[in-house]
Amino acid sequence: MAGRSQDRSLREELTCAICCELFSEPVMLDCMHHFCKACIQGYWESCARVPSCPQCRCEFPSRAFRTHYLLSGLVEKVRRCGSAEHRHKMQKHLEDALQARQKEMENFLRRKRAAQEDICGLTKVSGELNFKIHAEFARLHQILEEEERAVLAELGEKEEQSLAQLNGDVHRLEEGMSVLQRDIERIEQILSKMEEVSLLEVESLDIKPSVHVKPQPAFDLEHYRDSCSGPLQYIFWRQMLRSICPAPAPLTFDPESAHPNLVFSRDLTAVTERNRAQPVPISPQRFRQCVNVLASRTFDSGQHYWEVWVGSKTKWDLGVAAEAVDRAAKVKLSPENGYWTLRLRNRTEYWATATPWVRLTPRRPPRKVGVFLDCQEGTVTFFDAGDMSHLFTFHQVSAERYCPFFSTCFSDGRDNMEPMRLCHLAL
Ligand SMILES: [Zn+2]
Ligand SMILES: [Zn+2]
Repeated sequence: MAGRSQDRSLREELTCAICCELFSEPVMLDCMHHFCKACIQGYWESCARVPSCPQCRCEFPSRAFRTHYLLSGLVEKVRRCGSAEHRHKMQKHLEDALQARQKEMENFLRRKRAAQEDICGLTKVSGELNFKIHAEFARLHQILEEEERAVLAELGEKEEQSLAQLNGDVHRLEEGMSVLQRDIERIEQILSKMEEVSLLEVESLDIKPSVHVKPQPAFDLEHYRDSCSGPLQYIFWRQMLRSICPAPAPLTFDPESAHPNLVFSRDLTAVTERNRAQPVPISPQRFRQCVNVLASRTFDSGQHYWEVWVGSKTKWDLGVAAEAVDRAAKVKLSPENGYWTLRLRNRTEYWATATPWVRLTPRRPPRKVGVFLDCQEGTVTFFDAGDMSHLFTFHQVSAERYCPFFSTCFSDGRDNMEPMRLCHLAL
């Protein structure tokens, strides 16, 4: 090996020509040759002549040499490296390094495999999402096309009706005109023979009253044009909204399920907590421990979406509850207990009440929260309904029947008095 032969030549360079060992306390003579200090001193002792270099025979006026510290350091290093102990240490060091790298290699391999699995998953899910988005847009296109056909059909019908009316007018007027034409010709004929006919004949001439065509109200072309104009895209978009699925559900609160402290607006779309119980009939449906309330609609299939105004309330809970939840007990809101909810605490802390809770960091405090329940998929998803940004999704949601769930939390004096409202899409 190159390394070994390099080692050898280095050792040779550092070997004393007298003792044939690695230099010990190397010194340099004026001729630039090196020897062990003891060796050169011994050599000079043994021959009483003028001191000379045993290698080049160069003679010196005195027994002078210079200690070569740099060389002695190098020799020490070479001596050490040659030792069995050093070799052993080096081997151990290398073995450790090898083991560490093998371990790291396994680690990298594992991470690479995980990343590759993620790539597969990502590609698969992207494909599914792609398909889904495509299908939703296809449905929108279909709705839009149906809407377009319906609007055009309506226009066609209007046109046909108006045409029928105008053509009728034309036809009746033409009939009247031909009657008039006949009358005119006849009267002119009589007039031309006025001199020849007897008075008796004139009197017997049958001049009927002129034909009458009832005038129709003038057709208003401007009105016809105006009735089919305006902000057409907005008009069609509003019509389209009727066909969208799921459209926001116009929910109302179910007072029978409400904790006695809760008070409702007359239309049952706003609720607030009053700090003391109202006189309410006893019902097994009623929440008795927490200031909770459900919506009057429940769901067991399909997809449903609703929006809840929380404004600047300082705390609240909302989401979905299983219809079967224990309403008499004070229960922790968690999926295990049949609750899939989002909550605000301490004005700024948003949590999904999964197990364990998940702290959410919305881009801005949501003032209107959208809840999407998909009974088939078993998911409950929350959005900031202001910009429809995603907040959190619960998976493996399962119950026989689902209820939209709300808790105003306590009003704490005036702090959290602002009512919670069910939003109805007002168009
Ligand atoms: Zn020597
Ligand atoms: Zn010499």
